[in-house]
Amino acid sequence: MTDTEYDVVVVGGGIAGLTAAIAACETGARVAVLERSAESETGGNTRYTEAFLRMKSMEEPADGLEEALLGDFMGHPDPGLIEETVREAPRRSGLVHGHHTIDPDIVETFSERAGGTLRWLAGHGMRFEHLPTPFLTTSTTRMAPVGGGLALVETLGAVARALGAVFHFDTTARSLVLNDGAVQGIQAATPDGLRTFTGRAVLACGGFQGNAEMMARYFGRDALTTRPVARGGNHNKGEGIEMALTVGAATSGNFSLFHAEPVDPRSGAAEAAIFCFPYGVLVNRAGERFVNEAPGPVDAWYERIARIIQRQSEGMAYAVLDSQGMSIPNIGSSIRTDQPAYSAPTLSELAVRIDVPPEALEKTAAAYNAACPGGAFDHSVADGLGTRGLSPAKSNWARPIEKGPFHALPIMAANVFTFGGLKTSPRAEVVDRDGKPIPGLYAAGEITGLYYTNYTGSTSVLRGAVFGRIAGEGAAITGTDRAAAGRRRV
Ligand SMILES: Cc1cc2nc3c(=O)[nH]c(=O)nc-3n(C[C@H](O)[C@H](O)[C@H](O)COP(=O)(O)OP(=O)(O)OC[C@H]3O[C@@H](n4cnc5c(N)ncnc54)[C@H](O)[C@@H]3O)c2cc1C
Repeated sequence: MTDTEYDVVVVGGGIAGLTAAIAACETGARVAVLERSAESETGGNTRYTEAFLRMKSMEEPADGLEEALLGDFMGHPDPGLIEETVREAPRRSGLVHGHHTIDPDIVETFSERAGGTLRWLAGHGMRFEHLPTPFLTTSTTRMAPVGGGLALVETLGAVARALGAVFHFDTTARSLVLNDGAVQGIQAATPDGLRTFTGRAVLACGGFQGNAEMMARYFGRDALTTRPVARGGNHNKGEGIEMALTVGAATSGNFSLFHAEPVDPRSGAAEAAIFCFPYGVLVNRAGERFVNEAPGPVDAWYERIARIIQRQSEGMAYAVLDSQGMSIPNIGSSIRTDQPAYSAPTLSELAVRIDVPPEALEKTAAAYNAACPGGAFDHSVADGLGTRGLSPAKSNWARPIEKGPFHALPIMAANVFTFGGLKTSPRAEVVDRDGKPIPGLYAAGEITGLYYTNYTGSTSVLRGAVFGRIAGEGAAITGTDRAAAGRRRV
């Protein structure tokens, strides 16, 4: 064997690629991992995440996982196609298999295999616990790997190597190599020039948040006011999606949205998130409120609110809290920026500091304060303390902003990852626009499309692990071995 001949070529060294590589090695395949970044930076988005997982326990996904994913579809889908989508897979037409709507079988496989995948990862040295989140109010249960995404990258990278996977760093996949309609390799730019790595391909190279041209192509002007939430996202430039589209791949997920997170634009830290705004007000550059800051638990609503912030002038807003708001127990855990809040003894002085018209900010605060109802305030649950007669209303935690000093934190919508991606079967095979698997081509993780309007939080690492493992197994095994492997699966 030369160093370019393999059974399976995995593109990307994040959670999806590493689980694919390990699973393929465990099946006895010769495996290469191609990774664009240097070894010191490998792991894309996975490297920077705390990697919360929407799980109730090591065995069970969080309650309502499947409903949340299935309920996320948008628009006005054709009832005839939807009716067909819920039929048994063999009774669906190619039109439906290749359609961009969500596939219930993918959701079912995700949910069914999540527990087994975590136990498999635990068997490879990972430890999972119910760790504290940055959310003071939550709508679901979460676990996380001890050590976060970096531990996933380092531990699973070492396991893959120990099992025989060969890592090629500084190596960027450029195109698929086809023979008679089947993918038989990847052409990649390496430090030694263009080379072809032969083998069935697993594309696990993330979304396109790191590609300004693709961002502008799909998001128009909004692309200008956003950036990846952490350095790792810059490596994900969409080549995997583009090379699969070139060979006729179908798509799923919403190409006009990305997972948005409210972060401090001044900070270069990974995920400089600001989740404290439900306890104050959000004002735009004109000093005016423009959104209900607190419709419910912050983890369920922050993405929709970040999208509305993005539509404001300069794509930004300020969270304004008074000293009471900043004294809420544990409020610091919901403020992840490394930059200090702007602070001033009066609202008008604060307005000058943040370059917002002082009279406008004072008028906004006065109208808001007058609409606060009084009554018991409880920061830890949606307390129903809503404004009266104010537009836009604030549904919870409406307590006057009146006790100085006053504080302001700037917020923009950062791009955690893009929603639009490749359509796969539940076996992680990339399907073409007639709904048929493209032979030799698999995909997992961010590169696949699963979300439409509102990200079902804490599912992206988990889906990367579940479908990365499935993709690795599938790419490693061919023909009649597949049925036997299916019987052995945990
Ligand atoms: C700060 C932050 C916090 C997050 N929090 C959570 C959370 O709590 N829970 C959750 O579920 N999700 C979270 N996410 C999202 C989640 O981390 C990612 O969606 C997930 O890790 C993606 O895994 P992946 O393997 O698909 O892609 P990545 O981990 O991004 O890996 C893709 C890899 O492919 C490489 N690559 C790209 N293009 C090429 C190419 N052409 N050739 C070769 N290599 C290439 C990249 O360098 C990268 O290493 C967070 C993300 C960030 C950044």
